[in-house]
Amino acid sequence: MITSKITIMTNLNRMATPACPECGKPMRRRHSGKGDLRGCSAYPDCRDTRDIPQPA
Ligand SMILES: [Zn+2]
Repeated sequence: MITSKITIMTNLNRMATPACPECGKPMRRRHSGKGDLRGCSAYPDCRDTRDIPQPA
């Protein structure tokens, strides 16, 4: 069903861009020397970052 596929994609997008716990703005994927992480899109006003869980 097309409707269910859209729902799944929306859920994946939510997982990919969680809201910043500090300011509530969407977080974006960033690259660092240690690997990918999520940084707040309000950077540099908000410098909150989160590690992205890497699949084993
Ligand atoms: Zn933030």
